[in-house]
Amino acid sequence: MTQYVFRFGGGVSDAQEDDKLARTNLLGGKGANLAEMASIGLPVPPGFTISTELCTRYYADGETYPDSLIGEVAQAIAHIESVTGKTFGDAANPLLVSVRSGARVSMPGMMDTVLNLGLNDATVEGLAKVSGDERFAWDSYRRFIQMYSDVVLGLDHDAFEEALEIVKEDNGFYNDTEMEAEHWKALVAEYKTLVEEQWAKPFPQDVNDQLWGAITAVFGSWQAERAKVYRRLNDIPGDWGTAVNVQAMVFGNMGETSATGVAFTRNPSDGSNAYYGEYLINAQGEDVVAGIRTPQYLTKAAREEAGAKPLSMEEAMGETYAELAGVFDLLEKHYRDMQDIEFTVERGKLWMLQTRSGKRTAKAALKIAVDMANEDLITQEEAVQRVDPMALDQLLHPTLDPDAVRDVLTRGLPASPGAAAGVIVFDADTAERRKGMGEHVILVRMETSPEDIHGMHAAEGILTARGGMTSHAAVVARGMGRPCVSGAGELVIDNETRSMTVAGRTLKEGNMLTLDGSTGEVMAGEVATIQPELVGDFGTLMEWADRSRKLNVRTNAETPADCRVARDFGAEGIGLCRTEHMFFDAARITAVRQMILAENEAGRRVALDKLLPEQRQDFTEIFEVMVGLPVTIRLLDPPLHEFLPHSENEFKDVAEATGIGIEALKRRANELHEFNPMLGHRGCRLGVTYPEIYEIQAKAIFEAACDVLEKSGKAPIPEVMIPLVGTKRELDLMKEVVDGAAKAVFAERGQSVDYLVGTMIELPRAALMAGEIAASGEFFSFGTNDLTQTTLGVSRDDAARFLGQYVDKGIYARDPFVSLDIDGVGQLIEIAAEKGRVTRPDIKLGICGEHGGDPASIAFCAKTGLDYVSASPYRVPIARLAAAQAALANQ
Ligand code: ADP
Ligand code: MG
Ligand code: MG
Repeated sequence: MTQYVFRFGGGVSDAQEDDKLARTNLLGGKGANLAEMASIGLPVPPGFTISTELCTRYYADGETYPDSLIGEVAQAIAHIESVTGKTFGDAANPLLVSVRSGARVSMPGMMDTVLNLGLNDATVEGLAKVSGDERFAWDSYRRFIQMYSDVVLGLDHDAFEEALEIVKEDNGFYNDTEMEAEHWKALVAEYKTLVEEQWAKPFPQDVNDQLWGAITAVFGSWQAERAKVYRRLNDIPGDWGTAVNVQAMVFGNMGETSATGVAFTRNPSDGSNAYYGEYLINAQGEDVVAGIRTPQYLTKAAREEAGAKPLSMEEAMGETYAELAGVFDLLEKHYRDMQDIEFTVERGKLWMLQTRSGKRTAKAALKIAVDMANEDLITQEEAVQRVDPMALDQLLHPTLDPDAVRDVLTRGLPASPGAAAGVIVFDADTAERRKGMGEHVILVRMETSPEDIHGMHAAEGILTARGGMTSHAAVVARGMGRPCVSGAGELVIDNETRSMTVAGRTLKEGNMLTLDGSTGEVMAGEVATIQPELVGDFGTLMEWADRSRKLNVRTNAETPADCRVARDFGAEGIGLCRTEHMFFDAARITAVRQMILAENEAGRRVALDKLLPEQRQDFTEIFEVMVGLPVTIRLLDPPLHEFLPHSENEFKDVAEATGIGIEALKRRANELHEFNPMLGHRGCRLGVTYPEIYEIQAKAIFEAACDVLEKSGKAPIPEVMIPLVGTKRELDLMKEVVDGAAKAVFAERGQSVDYLVGTMIELPRAALMAGEIAASGEFFSFGTNDLTQTTLGVSRDDAARFLGQYVDKGIYARDPFVSLDIDGVGQLIEIAAEKGRVTRPDIKLGICGEHGGDPASIAFCAKTGLDYVSASPYRVPIARLAAAQAALANQ
């Protein structure tokens, strides 16, 4: 019989201690860590975990439980009873429990925790007596009814909030803390009536009914819409399932010596090695993150820095704080990572309720990884593996220009760093809709909740009026890498008129707003930004990464400015320099059109002669930045019709330049129309039909290379790349043209430079015939954008209409234009690499599609033994780190 229930606490641990990953998979992150904390001797309230396997089985069996489960749970409850000396449902000394969800990875879409389960009309009296605190008992009961009604019964929680507000108003109270036992008692009666009205049944009084209701609700939440959305956004498989944790309650709401809090062992925002957190005296559960009361600082230093008055925990509860600090250090040593911790103090006694690796900003991830390696807590290789390459994206984005004028409206908490500007929206759906229309949006909310996730994802930045540094908005924004300002208390949001008022000014939905998540500033309008640099921890980690990686990293760039950015980011050459972009330049386009529309070779040569000096200049500037490095230049590739004139004026310009009549030009343009240009007259087919185009391009390349050699004494290494080759003969013909141009230039200049001629592999036929093609091609560059299109038979530009569903329905695991289809397209790459190497053992292999900046695709390239990947300039550091991680993983 499979065991589904695993106890922890009170010296008992049912979980297997040997394999950490397996344990987390079985018990979920929360359950595994509760068991682990208990087993290393930390104070953890006893409890048990129902495994994720049960969840999977529950769904497989049509949402029913195996018979054995009831007995297993009863035994586990008995375990908690014996450790605590309390009895579940006992009117004299009742055991109360929390019911908590916990998937393998923390998932904000899952069911909210239910606290104080086990309270009913009888046990509440017992709790009052045993605790000697009637107010506490009734406060706990009303919390329980409210939570249970909301998260388990799914009743409308606004009605419950309202009822509380009415009692407060009637008594002239402002804070919950002013409520006395009798007021809570009255509220409980009110709540029970609300439940009967909305649920048509009285609030469950049987504690076992309560327990099973909550357990079933946790499993049910695994398939809730918001959980599915979160899984989709985060690539979490649907069959992982969630665990349920049932745990004895400890009470942070038992008066002034009790408290609850959340903390990080280091600063999750900037990574500095200082305890970081918030707590609330006489509070329970989510009070700290819910934004109802403003939490207090954990440390004296943080309180003083913020200029806040309410005492920090360090000051108010010195002894317990010292104990907590000891636990922080122990947990960091044990887990060898920064921890995110939840704790409760019950009448001076500390209890640990959760620990996990803390979410952090990219900046903090870098600093913590580098610091921990320097502290010898982890190795440098581990530090390299600790940082998510994609998260670097956050650091590679612009920040606010310190010199730019800022129209500061207000200041909130710097909850997630980075600058963002966009139009104001007040709800998640509008955020998603306007983002879909190509707008940048800033989501402005009172506070966020898991229902807002899709809007937060769509937004460039998030602003909330309530909530602290550990509020839902702050935590989720940091995880997503979205700048966030939380707790901007001066902000008044009016959802009716869709406007916000602050500092006497009103901004409407659609107005521009800028946030600085690093300072907490909120500014009207759009503020100028500046580019990032690779310094400090970033530079250090990159150095360590470079030591491990085997793949070279090049860049896709065609302007000197982009080349410079890429070199500053560590690019080791150019993997793809497209030449068509150079043709679109306003000053040249007429000559380009003249070339295309010419009736014969002589006409084309006239136009090409105008373009030659311009092309040479392009290459000279790029080569100057790239001396000594390989520069792969792709000869003209796109269908000619992309350059055609459209407007009357454009035709007139070409007519003037060529002396051909407008009507004749239009007729010629019409002839160039293609039904399927992607598979039409493009790539080397242009070179085959009009060799003079490639000849002039090659001439420009070699003249520029000679110029740079002359000027600087050092040459670049041009790698001339022929696009869309499918047969060896095509490549042979084009190679002849290129070699001919090189020979002519070198003879004329009396000097020469090293160069290669190779091809893109972007057609399945080219991959299959790679053995033959390699006889002529000195390098292969996998053009995975086209190779994906031609292998899948999917046009990237038209895929948007169905790709979303294809990913949702699991047909493609991920967008194949973002992350390489390793099974299909990857197989062609492997075949080509293998066959190419047989013919030409030293053949140079690289990849130059968008995939060159995608970590999963980079890992594949490393495994296949390619020589380099090529990524867009801002992705170069991401590629360097991903390449290092791939090498370390393959060791
Ligand atoms: P989440 O995953 O949303 O953080 P948790 O299960 O961690 O949900 O519960 C949220 C909070 O509820 C905890 O941080 C803690 O303050 C409180 N809580 C949970 N279980 C208990 C318990 N057994 N005793 C006291 N407080 C608890
Ligand atoms: Mg929660
Ligand atoms: Mg928690």
